[in-house]
Amino acid sequence: MKATIAVLAGDGIGREVVPEAVKLLKAVGERFGHVFEFVSGDVGGQAIDKIGVPLPQETLTLAKQAAAVLLGAVGGPKWEGLEYSLRPERGLLGLREQLGLFANLRPAKLYPMLAEASTLKRDVIEGLDLLVVRELTGGIYFGKPRGIEKIPGGERGINTEVYTTQEIRRIAKIAFDAARKRRRRVTSVDKANVLESSELWRRVVNEVHRDFPDVELSHMYVDNCAMQLVRNPKQFDVLVTTNLFGDILSDEAAMLTGSIGMLPSASLGAHAGLYEPIHGSAPDIAGKNLANPIATIASAALMLSYTFHLEKEAEAVESAILRTLDQGYRTKDIHSPGTRLVGTSEMGDAVLKHFAQG
Ligand code: NAD
Repeated sequence: MKATIAVLAGDGIGREVVPEAVKLLKAVGERFGHVFEFVSGDVGGQAIDKIGVPLPQETLTLAKQAAAVLLGAVGGPKWEGLEYSLRPERGLLGLREQLGLFANLRPAKLYPMLAEASTLKRDVIEGLDLLVVRELTGGIYFGKPRGIEKIPGGERGINTEVYTTQEIRRIAKIAFDAARKRRRRVTSVDKANVLESSELWRRVVNEVHRDFPDVELSHMYVDNCAMQLVRNPKQFDVLVTTNLFGDILSDEAAMLTGSIGMLPSASLGAHAGLYEPIHGSAPDIAGKNLANPIATIASAALMLSYTFHLEKEAEAVESAILRTLDQGYRTKDIHSPGTRLVGTSEMGDAVLKHFAQG
């Protein structure tokens, strides 16, 4: 297979963790006989410094022409005083919008040797492996009417939850497809007992399900789901939900596993998929070889699976991460007594070594 990957390292630790993931992808190409071409672009604060805007046209073109985009992180104190439309974060939002990324996938998986890093008891989370599929471009964040208006005696704030059949259908399809790569169970999360938009959501998800008879579907109200995620998270395989509910539940699910430096994400849509760690540019540790590159390496594994459908290759990367952790390698964020403290590049090299041995 031959494919072009756009590499947008961005700011802060993005510049340290992305090269580690690129190293792994190169090794995947060599071992399995694929040709990945890497093209780098500017985004975020460093694009502002160099070109004057957070998302240069050149970067956008590059991202649109690529099969997939690997992104680090954007932002930092240096650019915080800028006008909102010129902030580094606009680069990422613009990219999501322009690439039509309507589905955000966030796996939350507990590596057994890191169980102590979670705030929950070991027996509740041991073996946890779930995926939150969040709708990203619809719902209450974009619905109209919206605003704040004057009313007699005060003001009134308005936001509107809106979903169309087409929007629900495409996100449901992504969730069922993802479930087929996993344990074939989807839980659709809504508030159909109160909201009409949820009533439609539930109906359309049921309709799409007819094309996926091999996947088990259940429905759950969002308040119950928030509770179940803490009570018994292992009951879930794939959760699919709206923009607002997904925003909240994906953070809740992510933190079950302990460290932000371990969690990857994928955003899918009409063009190239975008793969990035869920963490930011971490200015407090940037440039110090302290950042954990595993979230970004795991994002590259998601790319292999979701964009390139290279399941064997994705599993080989996942297994290399697991064996590296099993051998006691730890960056500072996941370090505990008795394990081997390493820096960003050493962790990347260790995963590469275990990949080569696999
Ligand atoms: P952050 O995720 O950058 O950092 C939060 C904490 O987690 C920090 O203490 C940091 O050191 C630690 N951390 C994060 N990633 C880590 C890693 N890989 N290894 C070890 N430790 C890690 O969030 P923040 O501090 O709120 O934001 C910093 C900047 O990043 C801001 O400018 C923010 O706007 C931006 N940001 C960008 C994105 C993105 O690009 N997707 C996401 C969130 C925040």
